[in-house]
Amino acid sequence: MKDLQKQKQDYLDQFKSRTYGRNLLKSDDPFDAPSEECGIFGLYSENDLDTFSLSQFGLFALQHRGQEACGISVMNQGRIFNLKDEGLVLDFYKDIREPETFMGNSAIGHTRYTTAGDKKKYNFQPFFAKNEYDQIILSIAHNGNLTNAKCLKAELEAEGVVFKATSDSEVILRLIQKNLDLGLRGAIKATMEKIEGAYSVVGMTRNKFFAFRDFHGIRPLVLGAIDEKTFVAASETVALDAVGAQYVRDILPGEIVYTNENEPGLQSFMVREDCQRNICAFEYIYFARPDSTLEGINVHEVREKSGMKIWEQAPVEADIVIGVPDSGVPAAIGFSIASGIPFRPVLIKNRYVGRSFIVPTQDMRERIVNLKLNPIISEIKGKRVVIIDDSIVRGTTSKRLVKILRMAGVKEIHFRSVSPPIIAPCYLGIDTPSKDDLISANMSVEELREYLGVDSLEFLSMENLITILGSSNHCFGCFTEKYPVPKGDDEEIFK
Ligand code: SF4
Repeated sequence: MKDLQKQKQDYLDQFKSRTYGRNLLKSDDPFDAPSEECGIFGLYSENDLDTFSLSQFGLFALQHRGQEACGISVMNQGRIFNLKDEGLVLDFYKDIREPETFMGNSAIGHTRYTTAGDKKKYNFQPFFAKNEYDQIILSIAHNGNLTNAKCLKAELEAEGVVFKATSDSEVILRLIQKNLDLGLRGAIKATMEKIEGAYSVVGMTRNKFFAFRDFHGIRPLVLGAIDEKTFVAASETVALDAVGAQYVRDILPGEIVYTNENEPGLQSFMVREDCQRNICAFEYIYFARPDSTLEGINVHEVREKSGMKIWEQAPVEADIVIGVPDSGVPAAIGFSIASGIPFRPVLIKNRYVGRSFIVPTQDMRERIVNLKLNPIISEIKGKRVVIIDDSIVRGTTSKRLVKILRMAGVKEIHFRSVSPPIIAPCYLGIDTPSKDDLISANMSVEELREYLGVDSLEFLSMENLITILGSSNHCFGCFTEKYPVPKGDDEEIFK
């Protein structure tokens, strides 16, 4: 019998030979959902603050955006300290001795989910650059994916720039570092004029703080204030709430906000005035927390309205409506309000099931769905059920869920997805499977209905999604295969 280590290695090798792209194991994630991206948090105060505690609170509120690693950089009296490690925010912080060392007037932080580069420690963020005296002079945290990082990295390496990691985020760091002679604002502007793709960034030098967002505003970045001398930039408004900051506004596509020793507060500079807002529609459908508000639109409201709209679009007679936790639940409540069909919270989620199971067979992978979701059988037996989920990606979770409901004695199943069919992968900061593994890219709705074994199946239409979001100024790339920025040269390595 092979020893356990060898078996595990053989299993990993099987996946390496497949063409899923960079997140090999995640692509076989039995939970079958697009995976989160990263969360960023930055804080600047003209006073000395307990930046350690505040960054901990801010990052904890963004934990849903990345659970693989986290880190902070703190600026204190002209020096930058950096700490980062794998794991969850609370695990990371509990191991820090002498937290008072990390007081200061500025901090940036990052919760990581790997969307580019490998999962090694050198890719953990915030990234930093040092001077010849081994002192950190620049640090950044990035959410998004660059589409031309490969080519820019080659250019920089040809000029003698040495890279220490394999993530596209380091390209941003090295470009700012290279251009610092232009002043901080000039260096960021020069960087933004070179890089393409999705990027929301917070960062610091030894005496300045900054945040900037790509020309389409694809990944979110909001600005808040704790008082007139203390500012916060973060991926979502929940991080502002966590540190007691009031929401001020979203950082605009193409905007740099920064501090300047000659002027109090935060300054703003538009690198381009002609930018169009194209925030990721999937932030509202699945990624962001329901208590966040992005670009003035509350996430929970979008989810509830999507349930109402899909009732209008595809009404059905049923006894109860249930939502797949977590993001399907507000939509199920919306469906219930619009239809009068009672909502019942009968799918129970085991919150302790992580993403780390590695099991060798498809059957075992499918069984993990039962570990995560289990129905209250007495509530659904013999009933006609509408089940609402945020999306269908590979279809494996949905199929297994239908099987579980059938085994529980459900009479009819009417499946509703409150996103349009996902037909194309994302290369702008979200980990989705390749097109071959996206079930809606390979089956018609009727074929998928049969495959899932449900009585009816409907997806929210693009038209209704646009109505709910209030405009078509969003990225809808995974539903339309039309992206706000060209795919770029990095497709083969980042997807
Ligand atoms: S392609 Fe999809 S997931 Fe990616 S940014 Fe656009 S809408 Fe979001």
